[in-house]
Amino acid sequence: MQLVRQAEKTARARRWGITVGAAGALVLIGVVGSAQHSDGSPSESERREAESALRLTTLGTLRAPVATFALEGRAATVRRVERDTVRDGVPGPGYDPARDAAPAGSSGAAYGVAPEDAFDSAGAQTSAQAQAEAARTATAWNWGLARVPLLPPPPPAVKPRLATPPGLSRGPGLPPVITRVPTQDRVVFLTIDDGAKKDPELLQMLRELDVPVSAFLTDELVRDDYGYYREMRRLGTAIHNHTLSHPNLRRLSAEQQHREICGQQDAIEREFGERTRIFRPPYGNYDADTLQVAASCGISVVPLWSEEAFPDRMDFGRGDGLLLPGDIILTHFRGRGQWRGEMPDVIRRVVDLATEQGFAVGRLEDYV
Ligand SMILES: [Zn+2]
Repeated sequence: MQLVRQAEKTARARRWGITVGAAGALVLIGVVGSAQHSDGSPSESERREAESALRLTTLGTLRAPVATFALEGRAATVRRVERDTVRDGVPGPGYDPARDAAPAGSSGAAYGVAPEDAFDSAGAQTSAQAQAEAARTATAWNWGLARVPLLPPPPPAVKPRLATPPGLSRGPGLPPVITRVPTQDRVVFLTIDDGAKKDPELLQMLRELDVPVSAFLTDELVRDDYGYYREMRRLGTAIHNHTLSHPNLRRLSAEQQHREICGQQDAIEREFGERTRIFRPPYGNYDADTLQVAASCGISVVPLWSEEAFPDRMDFGRGDGLLLPGDIILTHFRGRGQWRGEMPDVIRRVVDLATEQGFAVGRLEDYV
């Protein structure tokens, strides 16, 4: 896996005592504690590769001083303990009472209360776990995240029952329209719409960070390069329906809506091999015909959104700046020219916000 390879390259650079010059070198050499050539001279290409890996890590390290120990497995594990437990009566930022609180009468050792020796026993974690954690840490810094993203909990054994909230169209047999998923899990969901901008860096970021997203595609905007979205799907992104041509469905007859929604079902099946059961109307605009038509072509849920993300800001539907469990976040496949930033800027903003508020980005399809 890419993360592990990156960590391996960086570790090799350290063994060889390769530095990246100036301040970055000082930081890392301080961590490594050894600048000895231990296994002979590397070839020029090996040296260059290792140096480049080290530079990436070092840049990340400088962005976030806490990452000074990014590649030391034990330190990563200790950070997890700090994050998810109560120490000296103070809960860490990742502490979740529902998940981590010790039941009355228990010692708390298996729960979120860090035992006295937690920081020593942390060293006993298997090296594979420690390496995976270290690689996640290094990757987070490499992409300029403020913190290591939280891992989502296991998917629910039974999906939550979805109901359309008051004020939105509903009726018997119609797919529920939702703006968030009813769950207590500390997860939010990231959905990306339309498909105009096919940014290769986004693929790279999704590949390395392993952040689940759901794509709602409009045929007219993606048909010049369905291959891009096939690759995204291969990386784990689920592909959903956002109509053929992105119209305001409220202005269309039922027949026209049928063509837009069911036609896009056909396009998705043609390009990806299977249809979806998830549909989002452009602009969030729909009427009773929309839901009837959507149901008739296999749609079982219509997710709208609670927040919208941009490279330079978030719009909070509830206006309070706070995420809630199960919130659905909307953004778009765009780039400079349409807004002030690129796709990685948006992903970074969403993931950092989620982490800061104690949420992981989860897979929408695990819940609806
Ligand atoms: Zn759209």
